[in-house]
Amino acid sequence: MIIYLDGRYVPEEEAKVSVFDHGLLYGDGVFEGIRAYNGKIFQLEAHLERLYDSAKTLDLAVPISREEMAGVIRETLRKNNLTDAYIRPIVTRGRGDLGLDPRKCPKATVIVIAVEWGAMYGDLYEKGLSAVTVSVRRTPAEAMPPNVKSLNYLNNILAKIEANYKGGDEAIFFDTNGYVSEGSGDNIFVVKNGEIVTPPTLNNLRGITRLVVLDLARSLGITVREQNLGYYDLYSADEVFVTGTAAEVAPIRVIDGRIIGTGKPGPVTRQLMAGFKRVTETQGTP
Ligand code: PLP
Repeated sequence: MIIYLDGRYVPEEEAKVSVFDHGLLYGDGVFEGIRAYNGKIFQLEAHLERLYDSAKTLDLAVPISREEMAGVIRETLRKNNLTDAYIRPIVTRGRGDLGLDPRKCPKATVIVIAVEWGAMYGDLYEKGLSAVTVSVRRTPAEAMPPNVKSLNYLNNILAKIEANYKGGDEAIFFDTNGYVSEGSGDNIFVVKNGEIVTPPTLNNLRGITRLVVLDLARSLGITVREQNLGYYDLYSADEVFVTGTAAEVAPIRVIDGRIIGTGKPGPVTRQLMAGFKRVTETQGTP
């Protein structure tokens, strides 16, 4: 596997960063998860925008331009002969000392990894996922903004650990106000009486798949609303699904033991799963 690291394309074994890199010492950095479908990069501009906006929020200067980053992503795919891939650009604060001060880190580290990728949840797209709500709360907007896709994923990892112990395929976060926030790595939607409702995006990640799916739903004539949701809305929904670059559109069949709707992927979710597949086949940047 060939990795891009700070201006060079090197074999995986040679792709090494310093133990003084603040990405490692403090989780100080940002990343993206991007898909390529059939050789075309899906929603590349939106992902680059989020990467650079996340970096800006952390006052982290990315040493290459957006155009250069796009070129690196393409070249990493090409060097690895990948057409259906998951791409992971990472920008860390870079090498500093053991203190926190980012001024001691003169240059950010830039890494791009690309791996072959298929359907993340396998047969669960047909069966539906089991989900559990977790006690760990999504960071509120007044702390580290959850809109920043930072290298600090410990909340999400704690959520995942809790889901693993409880036997769930995915974790559902609440925010500190008690509203539904998102999944550990995806945004959440409920369907009630034919309408789609999803939480607003102050207290979760502004998912790019979320926006694609909202547009798709509107184009299919489905009413879409952004509204705060609680436990009641989850448990009493007709359908629940999550969206993400890795997960795509994935149906939830049970939450905390409550069977959602019929316990099978519902008609609206199915329609969006099929529609999303069409979108990934037709959109994308070569
Ligand atoms: N929420 C979190 C916490 C994530 O890590 C992700 C994945 O990127 C998402 C939501 C979904 O966002 P996107 O659709 O942009 O991949």
